[in-house]
Amino acid sequence: MRESVCILGSTGSIGTSTLDVIERNSQKYSVEVLTAHSNHELLLEQCKRFNPKLVVLVDETAGKTLKTQLTECELDIEVETGSEALNEAANYPGLNTVVAAIVGAAGLLPTLTAVKQGCKVLLANKEALVMSGNIFTEAVKQYGATLLPVDSEHNAIFQCLHGAGLGQENLLQGVHKILLTGSGGPFRTIPLQDLQTVTPEQACAHPNWDMGKKISVDSATMMNKGLELIEACFLFETDINKIDIVVHPQSIVHSMVSYHDGSVLAQMGRPDMRTPIAHTLAWPERIDAGVEPLDFYQMSNLTFEAPDYERFPCLKLAQQALNRGGSAPCVVNAANEVAVEAFLKREIQFTQISEVIELTLKSSEIFSPQTIEQVLQADQSARAVAQSIINKDVH
Ligand code: NAD
Ligand code: MG
Repeated sequence: MRESVCILGSTGSIGTSTLDVIERNSQKYSVEVLTAHSNHELLLEQCKRFNPKLVVLVDETAGKTLKTQLTECELDIEVETGSEALNEAANYPGLNTVVAAIVGAAGLLPTLTAVKQGCKVLLANKEALVMSGNIFTEAVKQYGATLLPVDSEHNAIFQCLHGAGLGQENLLQGVHKILLTGSGGPFRTIPLQDLQTVTPEQACAHPNWDMGKKISVDSATMMNKGLELIEACFLFETDINKIDIVVHPQSIVHSMVSYHDGSVLAQMGRPDMRTPIAHTLAWPERIDAGVEPLDFYQMSNLTFEAPDYERFPCLKLAQQALNRGGSAPCVVNAANEVAVEAFLKREIQFTQISEVIELTLKSSEIFSPQTIEQVLQADQSARAVAQSIINKDVH
């Protein structure tokens, strides 16, 4: 029996890499459900290649176009539209695995729906976990879901631990520190005064990774590392003192675990998300990911340095949010999503991203959400605050 897979966000960078890995291992996996926001052209092509049973397009007009095209191609695939339908996708009968690859807060509810099905959830959508924290990890336990981290650093840490599943007791037994690595992005060395005028195109041109726009900007501000720090605390049930951020510009070491006896285990590989995707798909087995092994004869230097908090104030903001706890990570995430979008639309400058987040955090009431509805409320009000800060500044 092949494993039935649903990919939430199949047209994105993680989604297309996942389909590439699945195609190489088609004897093991069958694609049952695909979802996207509005890219009906790519979704049509994916329908032709994988013949899923259900596809969801959030955008209604795009959904109508896809329906017509599928009929023309005589493909009998159900098409649903609207964001509610994402839950239907994550809830599709008989699914074994759901890949959570929607970007941002929009991925929270469908990812939780998948968790509540008790299936295997491959988590790329870090924002969902950052927003909802313990509510998310408690649901994983309550519904007996298997959560596997796709984010390359968390996947590396997971591989450097004892091989026990997440949520197991003694997961961090003998661990001195988790060393969360990050490349430092495209602006690690440019003069500080030039940061103000960098463009979205420059911010999205990551030196090592080819990713969606939002996470590319997050890498340039290093908010991505901040979100990953929060993600790591929840995934590995630990606190900020147990995690050091290490800047490693070559993106060959994807993170490390340092043990009390002096051993440091690192996971290495090319900067290609198909490796962690394949690892989570097949775990605890290994499958072909289409990724060439590293050539150590060609690799001259791997370097490591401390993060520069003056250059990357977003890192400090994420740490502050972690220390405050409650809804603070959710507020930072929401403000960041709004600020990044405004930067991509050229409404604010690159250096204003951290300013918007800082002001939003200062002006938001921080509380302890007990339910997912309260998480969504915190998200919505932080978005409104961030937007009003941007509007004041722009107009
Ligand atoms: P992307 O922008 O390339 O793709 C996003 C996908 O989500 C698309 O399929 C899009 O149609 C869908 N989507 C966007 N907005 C939506 C909405 N409102 N409702 C429903 N669907 C929506 O993003 P990506 O780079 O693939 O990243 C996806 C997630 O994985 C992010 O959370 C990111 O942080 C995480 N991640 C990505 C990488 C990477 O290398 N790209 C690495 C680690 C983690
Ligand atoms: Mg990452």
